Amino acid sequence: MSAEVPSALVRHTSHGDGPRYVVWEITLRCDLGCKHCGSRAGHARDDELSTDECLDVVGQLHELGVAEVTLIGGEAYLREDWDLIARAITDRGMRCGITTGGRGLDDDRVRRAVDAGVSTISVSIDGLERTHDLQRGATGSFRAALDACERIAKSSMRLATNTQINRLSMPELVALADLLHEVGSKAWQIQLTVPMGRAADRADLLLQPHDLLELFPLLVWIKREKLTPRDIRLFPGNNIGYFGPYEQELRYGGASGTHWTSCGAGRACLGLESDGKLKGCPSLPTDRYGGGLVRETPIAELIRREPIAHLGARTAADLWGYCGTCYYADVCRAGCSWTGHVLMGRPGNNPYCIHRQLDHERRGLRERLVRVETAPGVPFDHGRFTTELEPLGPAPERATILGVDLAEVLAMGRERAGAFDAPESKRRLRVV
Ligand code: SF4
Ligand code: SF4
Repeated sequence: MSAEVPSALVRHTSHGDGPRYVVWEITLRCDLGCKHCGSRAGHARDDELSTDECLDVVGQLHELGVAEVTLIGGEAYLREDWDLIARAITDRGMRCGITTGGRGLDDDRVRRAVDAGVSTISVSIDGLERTHDLQRGATGSFRAALDACERIAKSSMRLATNTQINRLSMPELVALADLLHEVGSKAWQIQLTVPMGRAADRADLLLQPHDLLELFPLLVWIKREKLTPRDIRLFPGNNIGYFGPYEQELRYGGASGTHWTSCGAGRACLGLESDGKLKGCPSLPTDRYGGGLVRETPIAELIRREPIAHLGARTAADLWGYCGTCYYADVCRAGCSWTGHVLMGRPGNNPYCIHRQLDHERRGLRERLVRVETAPGVPFDHGRFTTELEPLGPAPERATILGVDLAEVLAMGRERAGAFDAPESKRRLRVV
């Protein structure tokens, strides 16, 4: 894992003797209204941790041996004391990063981040202009994000970027890779949009599992041709995998021969919500995986209790569906728990897997999500899907990425306002 880049979104290659990485939502207040926001952020939670409670948490994380803390929201900078918390983290010798939509990351906030010792800020860019603005729920958010990138790149901090991959952004990934180079990004974290929070209300945004057959070769091409030559590191999220011909090439550190070794929730990482609820991973549904309040119980005790203690330690015997029969079951354990849970209602069976989709393809089949339950409408909620296998059908006459000609995808420039207006995109995204 990188010393500089938030690692919860990176495939785990080892799990040490306790959580080393924490993603901390310090407020749920937000200045955007993203359509894929898992926490349905907007307003602060009731009873968010006070400054003193936050500083106490920082001390506890240090005692636990945590090496890196990423502050998120909502928007972390909308809390008045965000840089005080960041300073406390770095004063204890832990790395501090921030993930942001960047809409209000002005010169003053960048300066405060530098003064607090923040090492990396990762700005979310979810497509070209119209695609990004549509998903972020605010016109002008794309330009604001690029302005924030420029400010960070000019500072002493490291600029990273992160992108959600879904039906709107996938055909724009090549153009985005060029854009990241232009703005000076040193690292690119990518992850699949999964149906949690507001994204659960927009099932039409999601990739179908069989779309991974187009996505993975595209990512390899982008890494080889657009990123590595420009010294931009690609960090595929924990829901972009698993095994098969792309594992070595895509996974960060792949050349060292390491490989995916299952979910690290509670073992390698922790997530903390702004009212003090602790989880094994920030992405997990709160109702099922909330492990108690840090203002009531020491973190060291909470991580020894269920539901945090054993989530990442499931065995092949806990897997079900296709994953229960998989050759890689022992080592993979159905990949990302969060992704499996929000798709299928519980972990242990994960259709967002390239090995699985390649196997279906070999048998002339493809796997499709079918929604059977909608989400209730609270932070970190989800509905439920099943999957169906259907005939693969004849090979397309021309190479396309979600219906967009490959030649057009490869030639797409940032001046294009976004694939959203193109007829093929309207077909991909049936409800807008
Ligand atoms: S099918 Fe399931 S267990 Fe097998 S590699 Fe994919 S996610 Fe892992
Ligand atoms: S659920 Fe597990 S694999 Fe998925 S992001 Fe969280 S820690 Fe990583």
